[in-house]
Amino acid sequence: MRYRLSLPEPHTHLFHVQAILERPGPAPELVLPVWTPGSYLVREFARHLEGVEAEDGEGGRLAIERLDKQRFRVAAGGAKRIVVRYRVYANELTVRTCHLDGTHGFLNGAAVFLYAPGREREPHAVEIEAPEGWSVATALPGGPTTFTARDYDELADSPMELGRHRVVPFTALGKPHEIAIWGRGNVDEARLADDTRRVVETLGALMGGLPYERYLFILHLTEKRKGGLEHASSTTLNVGRMQFFPRDQYEETLGLFAHEFFHIWNVKRMRPAALVPFDYGREQYTRLLWWFEGATSYYEGLALARAGILDARRFLRSLGRALTQLERTPGARKMSVEEASFLAWVKLYRPDENSANSAISYYLKGELVALALDLALRRAGSSLDVLLRTLYSKYEGRGVPEDGVEATAAELLGADAARRFFDRHVRGTEPLDLDLDQVGLRLRRRPAQAFDDKGGSPAKNDEERPAPGWLGIDLAAGPKLAVAAVREGSPAHRAGLYAEDELVAEDGFRVDRGALWDRLCERGPGGALRLTVFRRDELVEVTVPLAPWPDDTVWLEAVEGPSDAQRAAFEAWSGTRWPGR
Ligand SMILES: [Zn+2]
Repeated sequence: MRYRLSLPEPHTHLFHVQAILERPGPAPELVLPVWTPGSYLVREFARHLEGVEAEDGEGGRLAIERLDKQRFRVAAGGAKRIVVRYRVYANELTVRTCHLDGTHGFLNGAAVFLYAPGREREPHAVEIEAPEGWSVATALPGGPTTFTARDYDELADSPMELGRHRVVPFTALGKPHEIAIWGRGNVDEARLADDTRRVVETLGALMGGLPYERYLFILHLTEKRKGGLEHASSTTLNVGRMQFFPRDQYEETLGLFAHEFFHIWNVKRMRPAALVPFDYGREQYTRLLWWFEGATSYYEGLALARAGILDARRFLRSLGRALTQLERTPGARKMSVEEASFLAWVKLYRPDENSANSAISYYLKGELVALALDLALRRAGSSLDVLLRTLYSKYEGRGVPEDGVEATAAELLGADAARRFFDRHVRGTEPLDLDLDQVGLRLRRRPAQAFDDKGGSPAKNDEERPAPGWLGIDLAAGPKLAVAAVREGSPAHRAGLYAEDELVAEDGFRVDRGALWDRLCERGPGGALRLTVFRRDELVEVTVPLAPWPDDTVWLEAVEGPSDAQRAAFEAWSGTRWPGR
């Protein structure tokens, strides 16, 4: 299969594509994927196709018939080749979709390139005709204008950035790396390259080398919040243009780099057997996403700590924040992380106001299950590092069976201990059992001190303020004071405050965020709020009796006077210096 891609009028957001198939047979089918690997949602890419027509390559029109929303059949007769022309509307700026405008073009192969069923294993070449002065950044071999993938999977796994992007190169463990940056912002490119190199070297050392010839980070600086998608030899990262300062935000951005990069091993070169081969036409189900996303999220923090970017205090704060988030998710008591993995297509990728009450993220819980498993393995004289490398040595280039992670953990922990762990934490919904004492830590709890208190650190000294009463709502981001979600079993849930209610007054007086917090402190547990809300543009009054704020804010504290063994275990695990005296 060969493709010609052109973009004669980038402002129209249309990619013009010719798909050329030699020796097509009498009635070849061509198909556009409905999803792209790594992002478990049926996106129906075909809704952006238009103007589909076919010819025989010598000017003769051929009939083309739509078989369903994503499949076409060409009446090729005895033609030696077919050329299918179409346009793809590209105006969705995410890491999984396509975007084309006057400044650049970005594409994911699955959203643009038709494939011929039965011919996916053949090489797929793309010739790109870009505007004057534009260049192409992609992990595919070839260039500057023609690139060849060894098969359709590699084509779909190799996003392309077209434009006048800046390229920041660096070398890590002897291999060339590039960061191709589109968009402007407050990024210090030299520092970003240097920190990224440290992350790459840390993870490369962990996994025994870098399994590629060349690696590409495509970085989009936009107004949007962060997002990333992993590929075998590249990644696309969408980052808010001002996410490089202050330090907290910069560390979050580096965490995204570490996360997507770690996937080159964990989900790209070894992936669930249920996703082998990829079926681009429909959902594929696995119970292992908690491992492939959760363990990756866990190594995101560990990589930054071991690379010397996070110190012990900041590393522990990030774990404490994740524990706090889990604590505030009632769905964690209803849905196991295995079920969350299985239902990714309709749960994690289709969140709504009830998600926290009914479901759990396999990223969040998976990260913390990985922590619990690491601690259990360390107690048994092993570690998650060893489990990861053992898994990788068994399954590199192959599929991991649904019981593969547990079976490998059983080799290191013993079969009974592994079964107990997986029953409780992976198949079950019981509270996490964290063996923190061995690394000199203990888990502490307190009530939140503000609406945006994410936890991870001890209470700030605030003796002046009485304890606030608890409503049990999350506030929406944005200028309106609106309810984003109502926590199950909370006072607001019982009293009938709804998601999307806009809070306008309490006891007849206007409230904003600050005033609402003050009223909660003033009335305290046992008091009540008389709230006036707009609900579907109608004023409604809801009185909510307040409860004591739950101890759902968590942090990890270093023990006083740790033993040498605890201190050494902490430092071996985190790669950082012991945080206490
Ligand atoms: Zn991921």
